[in-house]
This record gives sequence, structure tokens and C-alpha cells, in this order.
Amino acid sequence: MGTKLIVKKAGTCPECKKAFATGQEAYWDSSVKNSAGFSVICIDEDCFKEQGGKLTPRTEGGYRPNSGFSNRPKINVTLKVPEVKVGTVVRDSSIKLKEYVRQADELVEELYSLPADDQTRGQIRSKFIDQLIAISGH
Ligand SMILES: [Zn+2]
Repeated sequence: MGTKLIVKKAGTCPECKKAFATGQEAYWDSSVKNSAGFSVICIDEDCFKEQGGKLTPRTEGGYRPNSGFSNRPKINVTLKVPEVKVGTVVRDSSIKLKEYVRQADELVEELYSLPADDQTRGQIRSKFIDQLIAISGH
């Protein structure tokens, strides 16, 4: 998926050597890698496209076309909360889970330049949470 985003970490395009600073707008495509092995990112639209980057128009709701989200049928779902007492073990576990969420969020922040409202961000964070839990053996 290609999009225009606000650069979070300054860098240089490995192809045209144009530098981009934090806060600047740049073209970015997570599905295409540049010669440095990272997702294509460049402030120059032509260079971005030459590297194979594509701008994906946002569909309504901000979801990517063909993603699992947009393929879900639109139905109204009501989440029912079971009336049971939450024990301390479960409560402690949820505190632990919040730590994983927090840590995963910091990882996403550190490793990716993604707008805060980007759907991909949540998906990556979710993967990181799974991996953190797997690594720490819980
Ligand atoms: Zn470039």
C-alpha cells in the first residue's frame, strides 16, 4: 500500500539521495522495498514511482481495498459483557498485557514511519504483541 505520510525519522532516499526531515511529507509504500531493503520512501513522487512505489487511493473508512476489514459484512455487533467477578489473577494478567501493548507501541514508533490513524499501525502492533508474549514465554 502506498500513501503520503509525515516523516517521523529523517533519512535519505537511497536512489536519488534526496534527504527528508522529520515532519516533512513523503511518499511511502510498505509493499515495495528500495535498494537498501526498506519500504520505499521518498519526497520525490517521480523517484518514488520509479522505484515501483504506488499511491493507493484511500477507500471510504480508511481501509485498504481487499483487506480483511473491508471484506467483512457490515452488520451491527453488540458486545455483551458477561457478569462475572474478575479475579486478581486475570486482573494481573491484563496489567501484563497492557505492558506488552505499551512495549509493542514503542517498537512500532521506533521502527516504522506511520501516521497515527493508519490501519497498518494497529496490525503491526498486534503482531508485535503476539511476538513479545511468545518471546517472554507467557
Ligand atoms: Zn528518491
